[in-house]
Amino acid sequence: MQQIAWQRELLRIIFIVATATAAGMTFERPLLGALIGLAVSQILMFKRLNELFKWSNNLGPAPQDSGLVGYSADILIRKERVLNKKIARQTKQLKRIAEGIESLQDGVLIVDQAGYMNAFNRASCHLLGLRVDTDKGQHITNLIRAPRFVKYFEKGDYSEVLELESPHRLNLIVQVQVTQFGIDQKVIIVRDVTERQRVEQMRQNFIGDVSHELRTPLTVVNGYLEMLADSDMNPGIMRAVRQMSEQTERMKSLVNDLLHLSKLESNNAGIGNEWFEFQPLCAVSVDQLRAYTPVSLTGEKFPEAVIHCDCASDIEILGFADEISSILSNLITNAIKYGRKEGKAAQVHISIKDHNHGIEIAVADQGEGIAPNHLAHLTERFYRVDESRESTIGGSGLGLAIVRHALEHHDAQLKIDSTLGRGSCFSFTIPAERIRYKSQ
Ligand code: ADP
Repeated sequence: MQQIAWQRELLRIIFIVATATAAGMTFERPLLGALIGLAVSQILMFKRLNELFKWSNNLGPAPQDSGLVGYSADILIRKERVLNKKIARQTKQLKRIAEGIESLQDGVLIVDQAGYMNAFNRASCHLLGLRVDTDKGQHITNLIRAPRFVKYFEKGDYSEVLELESPHRLNLIVQVQVTQFGIDQKVIIVRDVTERQRVEQMRQNFIGDVSHELRTPLTVVNGYLEMLADSDMNPGIMRAVRQMSEQTERMKSLVNDLLHLSKLESNNAGIGNEWFEFQPLCAVSVDQLRAYTPVSLTGEKFPEAVIHCDCASDIEILGFADEISSILSNLITNAIKYGRKEGKAAQVHISIKDHNHGIEIAVADQGEGIAPNHLAHLTERFYRVDESRESTIGGSGLGLAIVRHALEHHDAQLKIDSTLGRGSCFSFTIPAERIRYKSQ
């Protein structure tokens, strides 16, 4: 096809030049005739090029020509048709995707890198009170002004989701998740989690109420058992009373831990506004636990643990002193309980050191250690590594769950390093924003 177009173009020029040369020969001026022929074929070519130019600018019809210009126009027309079909198909797909996003129950917002709103769907209006006519182009923090959201958005670390009250409707809790999209856009997904929060609240209240209600009968039973233990009875009954009394003690500590955990779970009191010194707090926890010797169910007393405390530091922490104290007590108690090896006294080492992003506090022991497959589950409620071993020591299985929640209130996470046969180290880093030095 392309070859034919070339041939036609050449034949046309040759025909015009030959005719003009023949006409020139009749006047005995063949060269002049050939030149005139060339000029005419050039003018015709310009005319066709002009038609092509006008057509390409939508100023006229496509050139009707059997030569190169017509051939090129045909190719362009065919390509345009294919492209138009593709565009129509993609426009349809885009429309369907846009309709899908519009029909979502979750809010979807697209903002640019700086946070200015490019687009949002109808659910965003319902969940956040956005208005189609005025809010496009606004900065996201002008529309969701909650300080927690502003901090979350500006920090740029979106590995976790954020839950907050909707700025639009009272009692509506929304979960916000930001995802980086391409190099210069962010997608914000907003989900209604009110119902889930309500059920979670009910669960927490239920556990809190039941634990609270169990406290009084347990105290009464314990009181009577103590009275019986003081009386004169035969040794068989005495042993039974002692065991009952130990079990009620365990139940009391379980109920207390449940109450503590449910209080921590429902406490979203922000960052805490109290600066407190770390060293005296740590010293009190250590002193209280120095004399702590776990007792097995068979009445066997473990040797007293040796506690080394390298906590000389003048740091102050912003947060909740009672929660940090509870974290330390739980970790030290565990190190005393599980840090023994071959019947020897547990060696507990508490340390504090500067870390890249804050202050790292660690409680280490040289006990039997924990197998790697357990590590990820240790902070789950009631998780125990070895039921038979721990039931003789008597833990509630809630200690590390309490530690995890209390650490969350201080923007910190529990890190557990453990090697079987060599011991474990439980550590956490209090971020630099929550630390100041008393001496400065
Ligand atoms: P518990 O009240 O039973 O001690 P925790 O939540 O404090 O419950 O701990 C969960 C489990 O983690 C424990 O039952 C124990 O198996 C394991 N564990 C905790 N601390 C240590 C430690 N220092 N060394 C070995 N195992 C530990």
